[in-house]
Amino acid sequence: MTSPSILLIEDEPAIADTLVYALKTEGFSPEWRTTGGSGLEAVAALEVALVILDIGLPDGSGLEWCKRIREISTVPILFLTARADELDRVLGLELGADDYVTKPFSPREVTARVKAILRRARPLGVHRATAASAGVVTPQSVVDETIKPVPEKGFIVDEERCEIRFRGLRLELTRYEYRVLKTLLARPGKVYSRDELMTYAWEDPGASLDRTVDAHIKMLRAKLRALAPDSEPIQTHRGLGYSIRVI
Ligand code: CA
Repeated sequence: MTSPSILLIEDEPAIADTLVYALKTEGFSPEWRTTGGSGLEAVAALEVALVILDIGLPDGSGLEWCKRIREISTVPILFLTARADELDRVLGLELGADDYVTKPFSPREVTARVKAILRRARPLGVHRATAASAGVVTPQSVVDETIKPVPEKGFIVDEERCEIRFRGLRLELTRYEYRVLKTLLARPGKVYSRDELMTYAWEDPGASLDRTVDAHIKMLRAKLRALAPDSEPIQTHRGLGYSIRVI
């Protein structure tokens, strides 16, 4: 079996080099393009299994290039975002993106997402193609579509698979999002300070700043909202920290 070809559209050589190396290590065949235009050409010309698309490209926004790619292909797209406002747009628009990773990221995080998307894409090929061509791939597609919502509310932590389900739907979480949410869920209602969350969830708490916790909470909220717009389980306690409400 030939290794899946992953198209990386990213203008920063340092990031591209790291990702190309990580993808090769994981058995993929990476193709690197530095502009949206050359990336689009590659999508048309090559058999690409997945596209990793940077949002800040020299010849326009990756958000626009995503739309162009969607005109010709239903290939899964993983966004690389650098800023929170970019992320808001990814989450807010129905762009047909499959997932996103925020910079700075670890190469392992990206390859794990690539594998997860390809795993999801394979058995759902037909279904996905239909949804994408209808232009209705929403952030909900982050969730495994084979899992139907169940009436059961609240969270289920599956430590063995490092997964958390919310209202029966699997959340696609980064490593730290998973750990932050798991920490909060260990004691619903308890207010955790940023320091405490950092201590529980980070391997090297000293390396990160307080606002890293805030950034991850923001991401978690966005992902929870994508599944259940009416729910706001994570509570902010001003000057104190965060807690979770289990519905
Ligand atoms: Ca860039």
